[in-house]
Amino acid sequence: MKGVSQGDVALKDTALFAQLLGLADPWRITEVTPNLDDKTIAIRIEWPQGKKGPCPDCGEPCSVYDHREEREWRHLDTMQFKTLLISQVPRVDCTTHGVKSLKVPWADMKSRFTLLFERFAIDVLLAAANQTRAAELLGLSWDEVHHIQERAVARGVARRTIDEVKHVGIDEKSFLKGQSYASLLYDIDGARVLEVVKDRTEEAATALLATLPEAKRSNIEAVAVDMWNPYLVAIGKSLPLADVVHDKFHIVSYLTKMVDEVRRKEHKEMKQDGFEELLTGTRYTWLRNPKNWSEKDEATFEDLQSKGLKVARAWAIKETFLDLWDYVYEGPARKFFDRWYWWATHSRLKPVIKVAKMIKRHIDNILTYLQHRITNAAAEGFNSKVQSIKSAARGFRNFAHYRVAILFHCGKLELHP
Ligand SMILES: [Zn+2]
Repeated sequence: MKGVSQGDVALKDTALFAQLLGLADPWRITEVTPNLDDKTIAIRIEWPQGKKGPCPDCGEPCSVYDHREEREWRHLDTMQFKTLLISQVPRVDCTTHGVKSLKVPWADMKSRFTLLFERFAIDVLLAAANQTRAAELLGLSWDEVHHIQERAVARGVARRTIDEVKHVGIDEKSFLKGQSYASLLYDIDGARVLEVVKDRTEEAATALLATLPEAKRSNIEAVAVDMWNPYLVAIGKSLPLADVVHDKFHIVSYLTKMVDEVRRKEHKEMKQDGFEELLTGTRYTWLRNPKNWSEKDEATFEDLQSKGLKVARAWAIKETFLDLWDYVYEGPARKFFDRWYWWATHSRLKPVIKVAKMIKRHIDNILTYLQHRITNAAAEGFNSKVQSIKSAARGFRNFAHYRVAILFHCGKLELHP
């Protein structure tokens, strides 16, 4: 048996890697160079000299015109060795389309990664709750993570259909530690984010709604939104036929803040009167849903109520309001609201009167809920995901990165190449 020469080993290597890569003929591997110091493997790929190549536009075989400068693509690791494909891609001269670079079978145009690596990175990024950790695991910089996410989102947005969307929601999120805002558009039934734009102005909301194809806007039956005027103006102009439904979650949060304001004020007064310990430590009782109260919470509440505390009155007013959303018909719901409004405005509690008046101003667009039954609940569900995206703040110094990350994680897009 003949000894294996150096040349034979190299040949076997290239054949193995060609198989691993699934490299399409006539592309061929000319060299595999492991580097033990920086733990990389460089794989050189070449289009055979003198071989005609297909024009990327028409597929017609054309002669090679010249070669582009050397480029590299990150591929899946080979046994923990970072693996790079290196090639000088030829340009062909098509009689119809002119001089064009050949399409490479291992990567998308303009990507720095092979298709297999992109697929893998997308899966890891989707699975990891923590983007910083995912980037470390993949050995990618933040810029590279963004590059992969951006391309994946562009693919997904081009593929998605939004023709059938009937109910949308608009909501704001603080961005960059609350220094600025972003506005998000949701497809409520599809529980997905459709678009993200900077600011919470009328222009921002108009830009968001422009995501919906103009011919399909008349399909939109209702928009769930907070009582925020710039949004309402934009909706009126862009979706004149749609009903506005003031979002239940926003109204509940106004009512919750109202109870808390009454509690704080009362606590302060009691402190002055020397009853301070009575309300100390009860803050969270008032913010929580009574369904989640412990026995102790319940006992505290009953005790406070029996003492005729203002906060107990405010709380009862808030809880009673929630029944509004259980009505089926508008007539009885309006009668219920009128009774509630009388009670709230005669409570002699300033924060309660203020919120009651605000609700009355918007009651028509609150009662539209009975017809459409939509809320931005899905949007609330995205909060933790968005929060984790935001907490990886290093990666989102700019708005474009933030937008791409939200659509990547909450857009329900087909992201893979
Ligand atoms: Zn051509």
